[in-house]
Amino acid sequence: MDQQDAGVDAPLRIDTGKPHPARMYDWFLGGKDNYPVDEELGRQLVSFAPVIPVMARMNRAFMHRATRWVAGRGVRQFLDIGTGIPTEPNLHQVAQEVAPEARVVYCDNDPIVLAHAGALLRGTPEGAVDYVQADARDTAAILERARGTLDFDRPVALSLIALLHFIGDEDGAYELVEGLKRELAPGSFLIMSHLTPDFHPEEASQKVVDLYRAGGLTMDMRSRDRFARFFDGLGPVAPGIVAAEDWHPELGEPVPGQEGVLSGAYAAVARKG
Ligand code: SAH
Repeated sequence: MDQQDAGVDAPLRIDTGKPHPARMYDWFLGGKDNYPVDEELGRQLVSFAPVIPVMARMNRAFMHRATRWVAGRGVRQFLDIGTGIPTEPNLHQVAQEVAPEARVVYCDNDPIVLAHAGALLRGTPEGAVDYVQADARDTAAILERARGTLDFDRPVALSLIALLHFIGDEDGAYELVEGLKRELAPGSFLIMSHLTPDFHPEEASQKVVDLYRAGGLTMDMRSRDRFARFFDGLGPVAPGIVAAEDWHPELGEPVPGQEGVLSGAYAAVARKG
């Protein structure tokens, strides 16, 4: 812990001594809310796989398209866990562009996201946006707070985008998803993307996993079957489980440099009931 960054408010303490996923993702996206330790691991990853920043943008673009799609199906409530540092457009901006009355609750466990949450809270006057600082596994706390903004008797789009590869099976990844799915009313949707080793040579994926782990981070790239298990009991909408770039590409623009690049992530949207 870098003392000069230790705030009075403990939860706001930014640990600049080790890389954090939210800050590395921000660095990949070209943001400024990251520290030398994040950039160092980011650079190691990019020197091994120069397309990683494009892959990160392709994932972000999936979030935009999936949000647009569910909003287009009439969903007006969104619970987004593992939100990341604000990067325009954020999920509420995409949803409220379709439906200004959309209500959105964001959640992340990284204090840097809390520090920038102000940018997430500026939504339309007709809609509502809230931010919860919590670990994704603390589903009780997340739901309790989310109920202040969202009505769980009506459909909610639950998005867990590029989150679960940071949470291992032994750390409760499946349990947390089941716990959240249980609370969703019929007509709700689960939106997910997730890194996978399936699209790239095994050694390349392993090298990326090793670099994350050497940085002290969890990285569990799941296979298609292990990704599919998160959707048990739900019905994936067309086109089913596909590479993130192949999920309704017509709903957005390709990101610069995308041609010929594989995102390395699975994506799917599934409906409950
Ligand atoms: N969903 C965004 C950001 C993905 S980066 C997008 O796809 O564009 C992954 C995010 O998950 C980071 O912001 C990280 O802080 C968050 N995260 C990782 N583990 C978490 C956990 N256990 N609880 C809550 N958030 C977590």
